[in-house]
Amino acid sequence: MRVDYLIVGAGFAGCTLAERLATQLGKTVLVVERRDHIGGNAYDYYNEDGILVQKYGPHIFHTDSEAVWKYLSRFTRWNGYVHRVLAVVRGKEVYLPINLDTMERLYDRSFTPEELERFFERHRVRVDEIRNSRDVVVSQVGEELYELFFKNYTKKQWGLYPEELAPEVTKRLPVRFNRDTRYFTDRFQGIPSDGFTRMFERMLDNSNINPVLLNTDYRDIVDSVRFDKLVYTGPIDYYFDYKYGRLPYRSLDFKFVTLDKERHQNAGVVNYPNEHDYTRVTEFKHFYMQKHPKTTICYEYPTAEGDPYYPIPKPEFEEIYLKYKREADKLGSVYFIGRLAQYKYLNMDQVVAGALELFEELS
Ligand SMILES: Cc1cc2nc3c(=O)[nH]c(=O)nc-3n(C[C@H](O)[C@H](O)[C@H](O)COP(=O)(O)OP(=O)(O)OC[C@H]3O[C@@H](n4cnc5c(N)ncnc54)[C@H](O)[C@@H]3O)c2cc1C
Repeated sequence: MRVDYLIVGAGFAGCTLAERLATQLGKTVLVVERRDHIGGNAYDYYNEDGILVQKYGPHIFHTDSEAVWKYLSRFTRWNGYVHRVLAVVRGKEVYLPINLDTMERLYDRSFTPEELERFFERHRVRVDEIRNSRDVVVSQVGEELYELFFKNYTKKQWGLYPEELAPEVTKRLPVRFNRDTRYFTDRFQGIPSDGFTRMFERMLDNSNINPVLLNTDYRDIVDSVRFDKLVYTGPIDYYFDYKYGRLPYRSLDFKFVTLDKERHQNAGVVNYPNEHDYTRVTEFKHFYMQKHPKTTICYEYPTAEGDPYYPIPKPEFEEIYLKYKREADKLGSVYFIGRLAQYKYLNMDQVVAGALELFEELS
């Protein structure tokens, strides 16, 4: 087989580039995907009970980029879902990020914005030099809220306490002095009306794009396909045979349970900072607004081993990544794009924006 472009990975990065190259430049494309489905981590599907769920945890699209929103809107309508997250602390359900409503529920008293400002002034811990994530939090909101919301959640999420993590991990702590209970404040947000996977199917529906080779590692076919350029969205260390060592990730185990009731919880995602081994529970029917007599929920357990999800934010791993990147930059016709190839936690809109930028370069 001969194509203009071989694209490794059928997630947001791979599908965006495949679509643009095929539609806009008339290039022939072959997409190869290791998993048994397209969509990358945003893949959703109907489970055996007929409930639409997301295989790799809660994914909500949100962006401030009109260009990205308009681009994806060619392939889907959006269902208008606005994401809200509850946290269970001291036996109460309160909204995240912390806002006036959160504080009122927590302390059983009313707060004006000025009163909240004074509350933080009284509780804030003076830290001369911000050295770690704990310093970031206590210097803004004080010890008590740190203990309630951040300390144990971070330990579960990263396997490390905030004082062991760089300040960047919680660099921007969003505390709101208003009653905005939305989790994301971006101008555009929602879930594709027929799900993410349908959107990806439409993106790939182009006669210049060959049927996606599923269940196939690109290495299995790379020698038997002739191509001019390679777009690589897999792990960068794998591409280079781990010659500088492995880039570590924090992983997750997802446990799905279907319940014989219409509704389980009061928000799409409920966080449990202090109890249980899992960090959060997702109920997908909130996202998709699906009518169904049953509901599926998903418990999320952070783990050290497993699929790569969150790059570990430590300078020594960034160093290793940069070694790979220097090698990658030397390769003429191979392009590294996406969260695994860039070893960076990227939201979906950032990945699409990056892919559109790369497309401009290639045009
Ligand atoms: C738990 C969780 C929740 C998230 N929630 C949100 C959210 O709410 N909003 C948001 O904007 N972002 C969210 N994200 C981030 C989102 O998942 C990423 O932005 C997005 O998946 C990145 O797309 P990608 O194409 O770069 O990577 P991926 O989606 O990972 O796609 C890469 C694809 O390449 C394939 N691949 C890798 N190596 C090979 C190989 N050797 N051969 C063939 N195929 C290969 C993989 O199987 C994968 O399908 C979340 C991430 C996680 C982990």
